[in-house]
Amino acid sequence: MPAPQCASCHTARAALRRPRSGQALCGTCFCAAFEAEVLHTVVAGRLLPPGAVVAVGASGGKDSTVLAHVLRELAPRLGISLHLVAVDEGIGGYRDAALAAVRRQAVRWDLPLTVVAYADLFGGWTMDAVARSTAGSGRSRACCTFCGVLRRRALEEGARLVGATHVVTGHNADDMAETVLMNFLRGDAGRLARGGGLGSPGEGGALPRCRPLQLASQKEVVLYAHFRRLDYFSEECVYAPEAFRGHARDLLKMLEAARPSAVLDLVHSAERLALAPAARPPPPGACSRCGALASRALCQACALLDGLNRGRPRLAIGKGRRGLDEEGPPREPQPSRPPTSEPVPDF
Ligand code: SF4
Repeated sequence: MPAPQCASCHTARAALRRPRSGQALCGTCFCAAFEAEVLHTVVAGRLLPPGAVVAVGASGGKDSTVLAHVLRELAPRLGISLHLVAVDEGIGGYRDAALAAVRRQAVRWDLPLTVVAYADLFGGWTMDAVARSTAGSGRSRACCTFCGVLRRRALEEGARLVGATHVVTGHNADDMAETVLMNFLRGDAGRLARGGGLGSPGEGGALPRCRPLQLASQKEVVLYAHFRRLDYFSEECVYAPEAFRGHARDLLKMLEAARPSAVLDLVHSAERLALAPAARPPPPGACSRCGALASRALCQACALLDGLNRGRPRLAIGKGRRGLDEEGPPREPQPSRPPTSEPVPDF
């Protein structure tokens, strides 16, 4: 049976059915609709004002590749300028190839690119070194928890380095729904309270941060990359199979099979969630070491690095942090780990 006509232009043959609406579109009309929806998300949410210098968190993966491409298309209409900021976590056999994809994108799209490395920012610690350290402490499954905290800090540092006024990341609706599920499963009221909305306005001196693809499904992000013939890196990080997120992803797939709107429903649930006063976390203060927002004496990143430098990464996350705060600063200055055995950032 021949493909139906595109429901938008009524001339070309449809190349896909939109996963949510079932609308049959040709590739050109689908890409135009996708870009228009991202534009609407940005404009309606007032996420990126005219004149904004936007640091795009670029990982080389499909989401950040699509985000950078769409924002480059929309930049003249939005009146914004873009700067790619990539983070080299120091993950052997993975990140070097992903960074190569980011470099190709920067050249092809004529966008400035800055790479910041964990090893430079965090006293020689790379993600591989963190993984080795946490493996000895029984927290090897928590690599992504550690990495997520450090990535956030690294992207903020990189964005400041290039004079950005705003930070954008490529999280899509599926990522956000997984995060909501994980926070429920962990009973993490603090993150649930902060997790809604399309971004954060930049509290505590942090740059405003937003997720323009937050309402786009993962399937459509992949379709957009396909029809725009985008070059991206699609291998999974070596630490990803251990992540708790994988369980949330499996659960979400089952939910979506039974209820196709489950992903967006979860995203909107988080936006509308209101915690009872007794369950609300206290307003954050400032980290006593770096000044970033913190719910305890130290922010998550400083607590994590403190725990690693003490050789006690168990203290750095979850309930162990209470002990870390109570212990005070390390008794003696910790030397930076020599990065000699780790991949050397090539920028
Ligand atoms: Fe970091 Fe985990 Fe992502 Fe790997 S999968 S880059 S360890 S957050």
